[in-house]
Amino acid sequence: MVLLDLGRRINAAVNDLTRPGSSLDEKAFEVMVKEICNALMEADVNIKLVSNLRKSIKKTVNFEDMASGTNKKRLIQKAVFDELVKLVDPHAEPFKPKKGRPNVIMFVGLQGAGKTTTCTKLARWYNARGFRSCLVCADTFRAGAFDQLKQNATKAKIPYYGSLTQTDPVQVAREGVEKFKKERFDIIIVDTSGRHRQEQDLFDEMVQIQNAVEPDETIMVLDASIGQSAESQARAFKDAAHFGAIIITKTDGAASGGGAISAVAATHTPIVFIGTGEHMLDLERFAPQPFISKLLG
Ligand code: GDP
Repeated sequence: MVLLDLGRRINAAVNDLTRPGSSLDEKAFEVMVKEICNALMEADVNIKLVSNLRKSIKKTVNFEDMASGTNKKRLIQKAVFDELVKLVDPHAEPFKPKKGRPNVIMFVGLQGAGKTTTCTKLARWYNARGFRSCLVCADTFRAGAFDQLKQNATKAKIPYYGSLTQTDPVQVAREGVEKFKKERFDIIIVDTSGRHRQEQDLFDEMVQIQNAVEPDETIMVLDASIGQSAESQARAFKDAAHFGAIIITKTDGAASGGGAISAVAATHTPIVFIGTGEHMLDLERFAPQPFISKLLG
C-alpha cells in the first residue's frame, strides 16, 4: 500500500464517520479507530506505535465526558490529525547550516538506499538557496561509486572530490573535506559506503570517517520500501554512528513507508527531507504537519 493510499484510507474512515446523516456515536467511532489502526499496521507502522495512537485518540475523544453541543466531528478530525503528526514528529530540531562557515554533512545508510543520488539532490537544494555546496565521495568500496557521484555532480554543476586509486575511505574523506574547507565552501557533503562483507566493518568505517571529518550533521538515508526492518536498521546505525536526521527515499514508489516512520519514533530523529523520484529535483523538505495535511488530502 503506498503512502497516499494510507492517507486516503484514513480520510475515508474519518469521512464515513462524520458524513451527514450517519450516527456519530461511540460504536461508529470505535469502527473508525479500528480502521485507521488497521491501515497503519498494513503500512508497516510498528504495532506499539499504533496501539499508543489508538489509546491517545480514544482518550481525547471521550464520549462520556463530552459536553452537549461539542462539535464532535471537528474534535475527532483534530484528534486523528494530531496523533498522526505525533507519529512523524520526534520533537527534535534538526541541524541548520549557517552560511559563511563550512558545514560538514555526512551521509550513512545501506547500499542502494539512495545515498549517492540524495547527496547530489541535497547539494543542489542548498546551492539553489545560496549555500556554496560540494560533494566528497568516501565510498572506495563499491566500484563505480565515484563515477556515479561524478556524473550526478557534473550534471548538477556541483564541485566534487574523490579518488580512483586511493582505497582508504577515511583518507579520501579527510582530504576532500580539508580541501573544500580551505576553499571556503558552505556545505560539504560526504557520501560513504553502504556495503561491506561484515556489518561490523561498515560501522567501524563509519565511525572512523566521522572521527576524521567531524561532521556537523550525520544523516541516515532510509529506503521507504524496506518495511518493518527499517526500525532495527536505524537503531543499529544509531548505536554505531550517531545521526541527527533522516532522509526517506523512494516515497514515490509502491512502498508504504510505515517502517521508515517507525524508525523515526524508535530513534527520536527527525525526517528532514523525502526523496520523491530519481531526478535531481525530486527532493522535498519534510515537516510533520504539512506532510500529514497532504497525506490526508
Ligand atoms: P546508494 O547505494 O545508497 O548510494 O544508492 P543510490 O543513490 O545509488 O540509489 C539506488 C537507486 O535508487 C538508484 O537507482 C536511484 O536512482 C534510486 N533512487 C534514489 N532515490 C530515489 C527516490 O527518491 N525515488 C526513486 N524512485 N528512486 C530513487
